[in-house]
Amino acid sequence: MLIDVITIFPEYLAPARLSLLGKAAEAGIIQLRVHDLREWTEDRHHTVDDTPAGGGAGMVMMPEPWGRAIDAVLGRAHPAEQPDEEQGQERNQGEAATLVVTTASGRLFDQAAAARLARADHLVFACGRYEGIDARVAEHYRARPQVAVEELSIGDYVLAGGEVAALVMIEALTRLLPGVLGNAESLAEESHAQPGLLEYPVYTKPPVWRGLATPEVLLSGHHGQIAQWRRDRAEERTRLMRPDLAGADGRRI
Ligand code: SAM
Repeated sequence: MLIDVITIFPEYLAPARLSLLGKAAEAGIIQLRVHDLREWTEDRHHTVDDTPAGGGAGMVMMPEPWGRAIDAVLGRAHPAEQPDEEQGQERNQGEAATLVVTTASGRLFDQAAAARLARADHLVFACGRYEGIDARVAEHYRARPQVAVEELSIGDYVLAGGEVAALVMIEALTRLLPGVLGNAESLAEESHAQPGLLEYPVYTKPPVWRGLATPEVLLSGHHGQIAQWRRDRAEERTRLMRPDLAGADGRRI
């Protein structure tokens, strides 16, 4: 999978070279390219923002650098910027790609969204700053052939920029790619693997730590009882921690 990230702070993506993501890149499962949006500015100050139309606080990211940057990473020129004889036609429509616009006003990024993005061959993450990216950028790419646009939020709070959100999404979706996790079975039982169910509490050695014992059933070797205990604890925990999720798949828990 090819993953392009466009940002004005490329250094923010440095952690993507570590741990699981770093190994996935080394193994060739993902190819991560991080780009500085300012490379697609045309003035000597490398300006990427301007005042909001209609007035108000803050600055808005201008569409022109974004358009040039996204066209470049998609490997396609905008029809109006092609040679005369080809104008109006999208030359080299290329492979399908998904443009992910990080935004607090987007749809919520959840495990289902991670699984959906994990099926793409090419993802392009647009990391906003200031008051966000001019809305015409998402609108424009929605109308371009072979480009899907997802405007996604990682939660109901506002970050200073989209870089952390892009990292969150890239890590969540990369874990789902074949060959990334040492034991793919880890994916089957974890939180959100089934909609509306969190994972049961987990324990390791020693059997007693600071007076707290590991539940006896987990040391019993009785697989049926262990599975039942885990199921019960998962449902209990979901009701307690996330009553909004409990039974989201229609189960009564
Ligand atoms: N004015 C925007 C609003 O009210 O929704 C917030 C802009 S925020 C300061 C700057 C950038 O951070 C956004 O363009 C977006 O890329 C990113 N961002 C902030 N919160 C986010 C979230 N919850 N999920 C994804 N991206 C977020």
